[in-house]
Amino acid sequence: MNYLLLLQPVYFFCYPIFWKNKEDIFGFAKHKNQIDKTYLCSMLENKNQAKTSLSDLGEFKLIDHLTKHAVKHHKDTVKGVGDDCAVIGDTDLQTLVTTDLLIEGVHFDLSYVPLKHLGYKAVMVNLSDIYAMNGRAKQITVSIAVSNRFPLEALEELYEGIHLACNSYKVDLVGGDTTSSTKGLLISITAIGEVNKDQCVYRNGAKANDLLVVSGDLGAAYLGLQVLEREKQVFQVNPNAEHELDAYTYLVERQLKPEARKDVVKLLSDLEVKPTSMIDISDGLSSEVLHLCKQSKTGCQIYEDKIPLDQQVISTCEEFNMDSTTIALSGGEDYELLFTVKQEDFPKIKANPNFSVIGHMTEDTGIVELVTRGGQRVTVTAQGWNALSDD
Ligand code: ADP
Ligand code: MG
Repeated sequence: MNYLLLLQPVYFFCYPIFWKNKEDIFGFAKHKNQIDKTYLCSMLENKNQAKTSLSDLGEFKLIDHLTKHAVKHHKDTVKGVGDDCAVIGDTDLQTLVTTDLLIEGVHFDLSYVPLKHLGYKAVMVNLSDIYAMNGRAKQITVSIAVSNRFPLEALEELYEGIHLACNSYKVDLVGGDTTSSTKGLLISITAIGEVNKDQCVYRNGAKANDLLVVSGDLGAAYLGLQVLEREKQVFQVNPNAEHELDAYTYLVERQLKPEARKDVVKLLSDLEVKPTSMIDISDGLSSEVLHLCKQSKTGCQIYEDKIPLDQQVISTCEEFNMDSTTIALSGGEDYELLFTVKQEDFPKIKANPNFSVIGHMTEDTGIVELVTRGGQRVTVTAQGWNALSDD
């Protein structure tokens, strides 16, 4: 047996120590006898060392922190971290790249999410980011990590959903990776698209007085999740109980089978409207408006009575004793497009049933206000999905 092989994981964890002390990563072999515990263990054991909890930092600050020293080596990296996609290519036709990771128990619960739907949705969440740049989605790669709890038939079902999404949105599955996991299922999809340089829309282009517009309606996907969670609890208490989902079909469909808004990109092009900024709504309206404001260095006023809500959202909020505005602001997973347009484009979009003008941008950098039905102004903070919260 080659005992050096056993030591390899130790080298890996000790890499930061060596890097600091020896300034030469090729010095590993010489110094291996100094290793008595792993870097990670020593970090966790040292109770006096200051440590920052990831949940205190939050997802967005963490991303900023980890990527702030990223160096751009290539001129054709037009946009790196910070938008819905990276934009690559110093040419008239640019490439868009985006990636998303879905983890069982964090992003989906297989006790009520059918695998075919999961496959479909995993593709949608990526395509949505391509459309949020006003682009065309063309290819995806799919990587999965799967435990031996899953039989072949389960993965066939997952891929049925992936193929269905690819066929409906005319996207080619061109690769990926397959590996095992100790527990559960992980799916990581990367989508590749293209956009004409002069049509690419970033998060940072909004100006004060631009109108804030959203496609479709908001809050349904979150309520669909609440309905499914409730049914799961009913099932746990009584596996023979009847499931009464008829009143919630729209909500459940929005949760289990979202559609990325490829049609909105075409519609905007047909109407000859190029948004000044755009983002897709994955984390909730408030979080996404704040992103647009932060990046565009504007503020925003949203009018509560203009937020589009489906009738099932209104009736279910009443039944669940929830505030529909809060759900629309913080719910997430709607995968609608949120964008700003110049005031002069208002006549082109005002009569379109796909669009609701819900507010306008202001000069109060970073400040988002909700003008309530009663005319009060309330400052909006992001309470959307925080991937790193302790809950
Ligand atoms: P979205 O909700 O549109 O998928 P995210 O909030 O996940 O966007 O990510 C925001 C930006 O941060 C994107 O540009 C994304 O590529 C980048 N990003 C997210 N996580 C990381 C990471 N771990 N390392 C580098 N970049 C990241
Ligand atoms: Mg996005």
